[in-house]
Amino acid sequence: MTRPNDTRMHDVTDETRAIVDLVLDYSRARLLSEDTPLDKPLPPAELTRLAGRTIDERGIGATKALGIFEHVLAPACITTDDPRYLSFIPSAPTKAAAAFDLVVSASALYGGSWLEGAGAVHAENEVLRWLAAEFGLPAGAGGVFVQGGTLGNLSALVAAREAARDRLEAAGAARPDRWRVVCSVEAHSSIASAARVMDVEVVGVPVGDDGTLRGDAVRAALDEHGDSVFAVVATAGSTNFGIVDDIASIADAVAGSGAWLHVDGAYGLAAMLSPASRHRFAGVERADSLVVDPHKWLFAPFDACALIYRDPDLGRRAHTQHAEYLDTLTETSDWSPSDFAAHLTRRPRGLPLWFSLATYGAAVYREAITGAVDLAQQIADEIERRDEFVLVRRPQLGVVVFERVGWQKADYDRWSARLLDEQHAFVTPSSHAGRTNARFAILNPRTTYEDLIGILATMP
Ligand SMILES: *Cc1c(COP(=O)(O)O)cnc(C)c1O
Repeated sequence: MTRPNDTRMHDVTDETRAIVDLVLDYSRARLLSEDTPLDKPLPPAELTRLAGRTIDERGIGATKALGIFEHVLAPACITTDDPRYLSFIPSAPTKAAAAFDLVVSASALYGGSWLEGAGAVHAENEVLRWLAAEFGLPAGAGGVFVQGGTLGNLSALVAAREAARDRLEAAGAARPDRWRVVCSVEAHSSIASAARVMDVEVVGVPVGDDGTLRGDAVRAALDEHGDSVFAVVATAGSTNFGIVDDIASIADAVAGSGAWLHVDGAYGLAAMLSPASRHRFAGVERADSLVVDPHKWLFAPFDACALIYRDPDLGRRAHTQHAEYLDTLTETSDWSPSDFAAHLTRRPRGLPLWFSLATYGAAVYREAITGAVDLAQQIADEIERRDEFVLVRRPQLGVVVFERVGWQKADYDRWSARLLDEQHAFVTPSSHAGRTNARFAILNPRTTYEDLIGILATMP
């Protein structure tokens, strides 16, 4: 009896073997390639024309589909791990982490519950515990890897509000008419996004010229808004400048107020692993929750944010989903990652980082992070030495922001577009206080001083 055609996609056949070989061969070549171009986007009409119609009833076959990916679609995606990708926050997965992502996919692992994914969850938790210890959190701290800092911040703030509700209720106090979250005016846009989702108000606290939020300003906001403030967010490495708020003084201001201290370290908190910058993060150990994105400076592939609670029970209380079909999971005290954020189904996206850390050890991570911090200092020194440039702020971590004297926005835009067009580098303009500037986000260990000097030379 021949197998019915409807299992063709799942059975192990010659066709299946050929497809798997095709995909693994491509992946192997990409992972080991030393000359992947920077690449660039194409307009929608152009992609439609080049890719043609790929989805029909009969299928176009793996060879043709992969060919279209390789020759049309992939070249229309910027190579985010290129050493001269210096925009936004780059991504530079280690080879071990990127390769292990294939294993995560190949194994159909489910990372939502202990029942289904105990082994994977165990390994993820080892990474979370290691991170928590690096940040000085107590042994009971824990959490979950979520998709990104945006979801991590939202999930932490939801837990914070839940805790504030419980606290007011226990004290017999009324809930405020409007909940508020206090953060720096330079905090990441995801805090405002979380506040919109939660329908709470953001109290943006002004910062000094150096961009650092400090305890006295936070204290003033807490005095003004009282019990309506359920959380204070300190930024441990702003995305625009890499500035670390004065977390210790903020923790002092928050202590005793009843508010929750959340540290948004999506970009910068990784730099606490480096002895060169560890001191900047004093006070993180007092956080009620924090996030750091492995897909940024911990060299993991997209997409992963480590969300860690000082008291994971508070995260669980806020987020566990209850349903009849989930009773088997929620009636136990097992550690189920689904319970700690606004999600349910999840891939164990912490595993690539786990494999890479286990493979290489932590020391080389520290060195790689230190290298980026040092390089940022070096290029900032060079920019300060040159009359045609103005350093906007002295870098603390890996972000260097500077102006080309005499340039207007249109000059930066033209320059940036040309750099990409010529496949030289990907450096998008940014702005501060209404002035356009150029910004290097240095993170990739393969970015060199010469790369950066070469880019400065394109700004005559
Ligand atoms: C990148 C970033 C975020 C958002 O993280 P995503 O992973 O992009 O969702 C939040 N806060 C800071 C400080 C960031 O740098």
